[in-house]
Amino acid sequence: LIARLGGDEFTLLLEHIDGEHDAVIIAERIAQVLDHPFIIDGHEVYATTSVGIAIGDSASPSSDDILRNADMAMYEAKNSGKNRYAMFEPGMNSRAWLRLTVETEMRRGIPRGEFQVYYQPIFDLQTGDLTGVEALVRWNHPERGFLAPDQFISIAEQSGLILPLGRWVIREASTQLHAWQERFSDRVPLRLSLNLSSKQYQHPRLIDELTRSLESTQFDPTLITLEITESIAMDDSPLTLETLQRLKDVGVQLALDDFGTGFSALSYLRRFPIDNIKIDQSFIAGLGHDSEDTSIVQAVMAASHAMKLTVTAEGIETVEQLNLLQELGCNFGQGFLFSHPLPSEQMGELIEQSPNVRQRFWQPESELDPAGDSDAIST
Ligand code: C2E
Ligand code: CA
Ligand code: CA
Repeated sequence: LIARLGGDEFTLLLEHIDGEHDAVIIAERIAQVLDHPFIIDGHEVYATTSVGIAIGDSASPSSDDILRNADMAMYEAKNSGKNRYAMFEPGMNSRAWLRLTVETEMRRGIPRGEFQVYYQPIFDLQTGDLTGVEALVRWNHPERGFLAPDQFISIAEQSGLILPLGRWVIREASTQLHAWQERFSDRVPLRLSLNLSSKQYQHPRLIDELTRSLESTQFDPTLITLEITESIAMDDSPLTLETLQRLKDVGVQLALDDFGTGFSALSYLRRFPIDNIKIDQSFIAGLGHDSEDTSIVQAVMAASHAMKLTVTAEGIETVEQLNLLQELGCNFGQGFLFSHPLPSEQMGELIEQSPNVRQRFWQPESELDPAGDSDAIST
């Protein structure tokens, strides 16, 4: 019996097997079959498979327990990176247990106000104007300290907690942006970029919830940019296209995050109502000294502009990178050169001084400090 549990997770129930060995043979066969590339629209697409195996018998507690054990074994297989399958063991692995602990603590932490939104400014690279901020979540854990998203976002995605967390981030950030609009009413209103993971995106009530939160926080939807990853954008099922289109109808803009790290081809993008491409920071890091990275950035920029998409460079750390990006015609940028992500109070100060930020980096070329003062506005 095969069932799809959601997203990219499937479960196989093998009823008439003769112990572990049979299950392993089947896991290996699945991995073998999925090991070949799929040809989709002329492109080779690779999928990796992780299989978790749990054996149940009449002495087993419940179907829920067996499913949970298989799930834990699956994450073990995934994390080990080498094996494509893992067998559940009773005393299993600190990792899976850590995941469960973090999940429980996160569930408690959201209502307790342990999460905090940080804001990283985004600048128009051609004019120097501060145009928006990206909301990046942090967790002030009472015992573990200050946690960055890579320590909890994937757990939040796997457990579904990304939904309440995402809702909280949208509400918190749009309330904050509205407050800044009131405080800096003489300025052009800032845009708000939000990260959206595929779980949030697959949620049927995403659009209703988003519009409702924005109404209650009085934040204009046309100032929202939703950042999505290539895996979402490349799923060109009618449902995905419909969701993207409905989001566009509400007035939000769409950006493709971490561009270049996935499998997507630029030509694919024409089919999607995307406004902006964010070039992943790994390419920006090589700008100027790695000729391959430089040509990739150049090519992405040319193709995007031909398709009337704007381009944002992520992870700008040096004046040299900034100057090259300006020359290449890159529209927007963010990075430690301008500012690390900041808590709201410090971000408010940065907005207040943004004309100075502008002067600092937008001097005539000859006057630029070649050493680059990378942490200029961070603390
Ligand atoms: P991302 O969307 O690619 O966010 C950019 C990341 O690059 C941030 O890491 C930011 O701190 C970092 N960064 C910015 N400028 C520079 C730079 O000049 N150099 C370097 N080396 N790094 C720079 P952060 O805040 O740790 O976030 C990591 C990821 O977590 C984000 O990657 C995003 O995918 C995810 N994330 C963060 N907040 C949320 C959220 O509220 N919801 C969801 N679904 N995902 C989130
Ligand atoms: Ca992002
Ligand atoms: Ca990114």
